[in-house]
Amino acid sequence: MRSNDWKIQFCDALTNWYRRECRDLPWRRTSNPYWIWISEVMLQQTRVDTVIPYYLRFTERYPKMEDLAYAPEEELMKNWEGLGYYSRVRNLQSGVREAFETYGEVPADPVRFMKLKGVGPYTAGAVMSIAYGIPAPAVDGNVMRVLSRVLLIEDDIVKPKTRKIFEEAVMDLIDREDPSSFNQGLMELGATVCTPTRPKCLLCPVRDWCAAYHEGREEELPVKSKKKKQETVPRTVIAVKNRSGRWLLERRPDEGLLAGMWEFPAAETADPDEAAREIAGRHGLELGPLQETVRFKHVFTHRIWEVAAFAAAADDDGTPAARSGWFLPEEIGSLTLPNPTKKVRDAVIGE
Ligand code: SF4
Repeated sequence: MRSNDWKIQFCDALTNWYRRECRDLPWRRTSNPYWIWISEVMLQQTRVDTVIPYYLRFTERYPKMEDLAYAPEEELMKNWEGLGYYSRVRNLQSGVREAFETYGEVPADPVRFMKLKGVGPYTAGAVMSIAYGIPAPAVDGNVMRVLSRVLLIEDDIVKPKTRKIFEEAVMDLIDREDPSSFNQGLMELGATVCTPTRPKCLLCPVRDWCAAYHEGREEELPVKSKKKKQETVPRTVIAVKNRSGRWLLERRPDEGLLAGMWEFPAAETADPDEAAREIAGRHGLELGPLQETVRFKHVFTHRIWEVAAFAAAADDDGTPAARSGWFLPEEIGSLTLPNPTKKVRDAVIGE
């Protein structure tokens, strides 16, 4: 059994290493809770390099909570375009609006903060500890990996209830004088040193206290059961152009996958003729011959689209269904397009 002193030594080693070695990232140069909140939402499921330009754009375009709270939805989605997981920005806007209207600021209280729309335990712990120095657990995949190795925790990290075990572990270890460096130190260690494969144990500041390292088991942890395979769905897209050079686009429903974004008409079939019939029927159109333009796969969390895209000409404008319309190429640029639609647009119209 280790005495409790090891926890103090572990904390010191981690926080000192973090203060010395942390990467210089734009959100680490601010203590503005609202800006830190933006960065934490953007960083979920997204790489640091990808987030940086979006973070800079958002904090310049929406420097205060009220700027984001009341920004037009279409504009907000446009500024988020390319980051994916669009429900994040909708929830962020709702949460920021609620915080602004209720408190006039980001509340310095994890319980109140977590009641806001879209704020889960990870975001709450990260923002409260980093912005306000409140000791709160911020447990993400990186943190679970590091702590499963340091403490030899063998619970399956895919199971939602396992998070509690790690949250308790963090609260047992956390540096109460500098919870910000402690939480960020764990995240940084997971991102740069204690990596999923071949962790760089010889460079690790907490190696002396790492049980997995001492038992030579670091690559066995964390325990992670296989996720269910994603469902593969065929998707035939038909980009239809009318005689005046306009293209037909549809707006997706306001809820669910890629909510509210624009796309070329598509059908869930691998048969182009069947797709053409369905789309022509939907918009009252006569379509000319189909020309294949591009094929690709697009991977979502639970689903893979196998996309085959075709171009076709229409003799007249038909009777476009609700939430759809004809657009010139330059007008399409101002719509919010998900990445699969952009790929089709680039193939049929050009970038
Ligand atoms: S010693 Fe190795 S396994 Fe342990 S925390 Fe450090 S990098 Fe991870």
